Amino acid sequence: MKTFFWEETKEGNNNGEIILYSEGDNTTRVQSRKKIIKRAVLVLNKNFIPYYITNLRHTFNLLFRESAKILTEDFETVSIWEWIEIEPKDGEEYISTVSRKIKIPKIIVADTDIDPKISKPKVSRLGIFIRDSFTCQYCGKKFSPKNLTIDHVIPRSRGGKTEWLNVVTSCVSCNLKKGDRTPEEAGLILIREPRQPTINIINAREIDLKFYPQWEPYLIK
Ligand SMILES: [Zn+2]
Repeated sequence: MKTFFWEETKEGNNNGEIILYSEGDNTTRVQSRKKIIKRAVLVLNKNFIPYYITNLRHTFNLLFRESAKILTEDFETVSIWEWIEIEPKDGEEYISTVSRKIKIPKIIVADTDIDPKISKPKVSRLGIFIRDSFTCQYCGKKFSPKNLTIDHVIPRSRGGKTEWLNVVTSCVSCNLKKGDRTPEEAGLILIREPRQPTINIINAREIDLKFYPQWEPYLIK
């Protein structure tokens, strides 16, 4: 285990305010008051099957403990030690430390071959958006998370439950149009029947709602 000690940078920047350290005793801590530490990261298993989605804080813990590697844009897997040598390009997101800028990983590969299909993910807002690719299931348009809502296909007032097969991503206007009715009653058609996803969302409340195009080949079938 290598020893690293990085402290918060005092220089003004929009990304920073982070402390990362790893002290040779398997302790890695990532602290930040900024939202960036909640960035969502897709975790694949060894066989490149989507395993779960987590935040950047947990991702760095896995990477510094060497329980995961980063999948680069060129589909290579590299260790955190190789990754930190790669300079962020213009426009790429990074976190700042005293000594360097570290690119934000979007996909990592965990050192496990556990088949994620054995897990039964809990229903979460982020999970529903991800399953539906941030696409309204009525009009078929993509929206940013703040313009999306969760719709109960069979309304709750009619006994519809909050379970994977009864909840879909909906834009605000389709949701208003549907109101307290079934899709048939409202003259709406689901673009796809809701399914049980296989991917788990770890600490959904601690994850910033963001979907990366890099994830699509793994998540969208
Ligand atoms: Zn819509």
